[in-house]
This record gives sequence, C-alpha cells and structure tokens, in this order.
Amino acid sequence: MSFAGDRVVLRVIVSGAAGFIGSHMCDRLLAEGHTVVGLDNFLTGSERNLEHLAGQPRFRLVRHDVTLPLGLDNPIDAVIHMASPASPKDYLQHPIETLDVGSAGTRQMLEMARAYNAGFLLTSTSETYGDPLVHPQVETYWGNVNPVGPRSCYDESKRFAEALTMAFHRTYKMRTNIARIFNTYGPRMKLNDGRVVPAFLDQALRGEPMTVFGDGSQTRSFCYVSDLVDGLYRLMQSDERYPVNLGNPEEMTILEFAEHIRRLTSSKSGILHEPLPQDDPKQRKPDIGKARRILGWEPRVSLEDGLRQTIEYFRAQQAPAA
Ligand code: NAD
Ligand code: UDP
Repeated sequence: MSFAGDRVVLRVIVSGAAGFIGSHMCDRLLAEGHTVVGLDNFLTGSERNLEHLAGQPRFRLVRHDVTLPLGLDNPIDAVIHMASPASPKDYLQHPIETLDVGSAGTRQMLEMARAYNAGFLLTSTSETYGDPLVHPQVETYWGNVNPVGPRSCYDESKRFAEALTMAFHRTYKMRTNIARIFNTYGPRMKLNDGRVVPAFLDQALRGEPMTVFGDGSQTRSFCYVSDLVDGLYRLMQSDERYPVNLGNPEEMTILEFAEHIRRLTSSKSGILHEPLPQDDPKQRKPDIGKARRILGWEPRVSLEDGLRQTIEYFRAQQAPAA
C-alpha cells in the first residue's frame, strides 16, 4: 500500500474483470487512482469490455482460470472476487464451471488474499435467498433454495462461497466483505445473455415481441451499474464482515418493466408469453437498510436515466458496422 497525498493507493486484483460488472469495477478503481490486475478466462466475458483501457499503465489483464493457482510478481492490497457466470442462461449452460468458480475459484482467491494479508471482497447474490418467503429480503433471512434444482449450481455455489469467506475470516482473522448483489443492469451487458434487461431491449429495438416468462407478475428491481459499483467500493473499505445487500429497492412486475422499455424505446413490440423457468423467484426486492446505515449508500440513478444510457449502448451494439 502507498500514499498519494492523503489518499491510499491500492494494488487490486479483480477476478471476472472482463465481465459486465467487473469491467465497470476496474474503471472505478482506476479512476480512484489504484492499480488493477484483472483476471478472466473469458467464459462469459469479453476483452472488448476492457479495450478502452489499452495503454492505461495502471491496468493489466491476465487470461487466467481462477480455479487454478496463480503466482504474482508484486504484493497486493485487495482481491475483488467477481468471477462467475451470472445470467441464468449462462450458468444453466455451464453448471459445473459455475460450481467450480464458486468453490475452487473462491478458495484460490482467498488464499491469494491471505498470502499478502490483503482484503477480500466476494460478490455474492440475491439468489442466495432463492425463491424468498420473506419480503423484502433482509440479510438475516436464510433463504429458500432448492438445492437440487437447475438454479442450484449458482445459488449453492454462492452460498458455499459465502461460507468459505466467513471460515477464512474466522480462522485467519482476514478482512473480508460479502456483497449480495440484486439485479444490476447497464452498458456492457451481452445482448444475448438471456437476462431480462438485454432481452427486452434487444427485442424492443428490433420491434420483435418481448418474451415475458409466465404471466409476468413476478417482481424484480433494477440497479444501475454505477450505483452498484459505488456500493462495492464503499463496502470494500468497511469493517462489516457479514453480508450486505446492494440493489435498488424500486420493485416492479416484469410486465410493468416491459412497459417501461416499450415506452422508452418508442417500440411497437407486443408481448409474447413463454413458460416460467423452474424455480424462478416470484418476488425480489432488497432491504437496503443495512447498506444505508453502515455505508451511507443508496442508489442515485433513476430507472429512466439508467435505461436511457443502456439503450444508447445497445443501439450502438445493434448498428451494422460501417
Ligand atoms: P459476467 O458473466 O458479465 O461476468 C463474469 C466474469 O467472470 C466473466 O468475464 C467471465 O468470463 C469470468 N469468469 C467466469 N468463470 C471464470 C473463471 N473460472 N476464471 C476467470 N474468470 C471467470 O457477470 P456479471 O453480471 O458481471 O457478474 C459479476 C459478478 O457479480 C458475479 O460474481 C455475479 O454472480 C455477481 N452478481 C451479478 C448480478 C447482476 O445482476 N449482474 C447480480 C448478482 C450477483
Ligand atoms: N424474464 C422474462 N423474459 C426474458 C428473460 C427473463 O420474463 O426474456 C424474467 C425471468 O423469468 C425473471 C426476470 O425476468 O423472472 C429476471 O430474469 P433475469 O434472467 O434477468 O434475472 P434473475 O432475476 O432471474 O436472475
């Protein structure tokens, strides 16, 4: 660790750096003056998400599968472990890799942090609450997860990762943090990753029907990526060792969400109902009282503003190359 003026400058490892949130996390860390080494095996992410950092002397991207050991040339101050498929389509396609990165990958990243006496931040998920019976979800709720259903590869991988993080904290007194991230959206999501934001935006911009799973009465709330990254940045500097929810508490049904998208894109797309996937949570909304209290954090970007930024990005992605 070194000091620049009154600011602490860190050397940070970010696993999953080439992913949607990971790439924004790298941008924020660099903007704060830190040095970043990104690790990614490009299972679901892309080097394109980081191409704007080419030539940035404080950033390095290393192709690496974090389930395997990695030697480092220099000491580090913090590890942010974000590597993991996150969209249901991705983790259903890669269930074993998802379990591996949450178990072996988390172990490797914790050992790396421990070797350098570095802090460790795990990006866990609202999926640890499963199909929740307590609403809104508060961190003390233990969840309602089907351990053998199709989503279990992700839910149980993250629950194991949380347990391992707490075990390292308790055993080695490590400085660890656990964020439970709720649905987050923004530029650099993959157009075809199957999540509802890119799916509806892509369909609306093309004028194709929007695929609403089930009757669309299930609820979610959507956090813009810059808000989420700000919450993560605050959390990694805090002494809170237990999980903290980070997300936007503005809840809506998926049908209402489709309406927002249709209005903001001025689309004439209709609605096409498709079967509800097994174990799809019926309701989800974070209780962010703890984040407000201990981090002084709450989302600032409205759904309308966040979606406008995202629509701009998606329009550019869809535009045919010149
Ligand atoms: P993403 O798929 O865009 O990014 C994940 C990145 O991890 C990808 O770049 C992928 O290639 C990389 N990766 C996967 N396995 C790896 C391995 N073994 N070694 C190295 N790299 C590997 O997903 P995202 O939406 O950016 O999610 C980032 C993190 O945030 C994940 O841990 C996810 O569980 C968590 N999260 C995200 C959301 C959300 O709404 N986006 C919600 C809850 C939790
Ligand atoms: N969904 C939908 N149509 C789609 C994609 C998703 O209706 O094309 C629904 C999905 O069933 C879920 C919600 O939107 O109820 C959010 O899905 P997403 O995959 O974005 O994330 P999840 O919250 O399930 O992890």
